[in-house]
Amino acid sequence: MARVPIEEGFFRIPDDPAAQPRLLGSRCPACGEVFFPRRLVCAKCLHEGTEDTELSTSGTIYTWTYCHVPMFGKKDADVSGYGVAQIDLPEGPRVQSILSGARDDFAIGMQVEIDLETLRHDADGNEVVIYRFRPAGDAAHGAGAGS
Ligand SMILES: [Zn+2]
Repeated sequence: MARVPIEEGFFRIPDDPAAQPRLLGSRCPACGEVFFPRRLVCAKCLHEGTEDTELSTSGTIYTWTYCHVPMFGKKDADVSGYGVAQIDLPEGPRVQSILSGARDDFAIGMQVEIDLETLRHDADGNEVVIYRFRPAGDAAHGAGAGS
């Protein structure tokens, strides 16, 4: 059984279950600007042809909101709501993502890190996963609690 992304090309899942997923971005070889999601033409200098790059696993909340409308395909559809944030990554891109946690867990400027959530299983028994962000260093949700 394996973990597969809900859509190809947006993030890479490491073989090590304890390792964090990596968002896949593009870096412009001409001006150095980094984009997510990936793009072929640089939006800053219009250079054609970018290089694939893996982005940092943590970032800073630029802004966020809390939604009470059930998300399509969400396995725990009875939850009262979920957070959605725009997160600034160190490389430059601002990424929109679902937040993992309760309403009181988040604030603008907070450090968050990427995580995976299993949405469902496909016909082959693979786990179909999406990425989301959680408060950085929140061991309660992760496998790396340590001793
Ligand atoms: Zn460029």
